[in-house]
Amino acid sequence: QTEINEIKRLIRDIPDFPEKGVIFKDITPLLKNPRVFRISLDKISDLIDEWDFDCIVSPESRGFIFAAPLAYKMEKEFVPVRKPGKLPYKTYSISYELEYGKSTLEMHVDAIDKGEKVIIVDDVLATGGTTKAIIELVEKAGGIVVGVACLAELTYLNPRQTLTNFEIASVIKY
Ligand code: 5GP
Repeated sequence: QTEINEIKRLIRDIPDFPEKGVIFKDITPLLKNPRVFRISLDKISDLIDEWDFDCIVSPESRGFIFAAPLAYKMEKEFVPVRKPGKLPYKTYSISYELEYGKSTLEMHVDAIDKGEKVIIVDDVLATGGTTKAIIELVEKAGGIVVGVACLAELTYLNPRQTLTNFEIASVIKY
């Protein structure tokens, strides 16, 4: 519990970012504290340690900050999901509604094997819209999403209503 409080103390609220009315959870103070950043990664990996998967799929750019070290620690594949025009090879593309605005994400068509078990990792789970879009990308590619893991879940935005039927692991719930 003290470790959870340490993590919480290093995530700050930024009101009206990136738009009026949104309270943005800023994780950059956490990234500046090597010990607590490491604890936060270990907490995520503890939560998903028993999950059966081979691949971690994650959206740019804050998702990468947590997903890549997790892939290293857990020795899993890492698949980047990116904004349009960033990936060099053929892609699957999906457009979706965001907490603030609209967005499109892309993933390489050969990033995931047919029937491969994957999890999705992001820093913050807000409405769940981004994760839902990534689930569609993974399913287009023939992959199976076995769960979703994040550092922080904004329960007041009800991501679990958007992501029914999926296991969700979050270190911190707001
Ligand atoms: P969702 O699609 O679940 O509404 O939003 C999640 C995506 O937007 C994630 O990729 C996350 O990085 C970003 N996001 C939304 N709200 C916040 C926030 O308050 N703090 C941070 N760090 N990211 C957020």
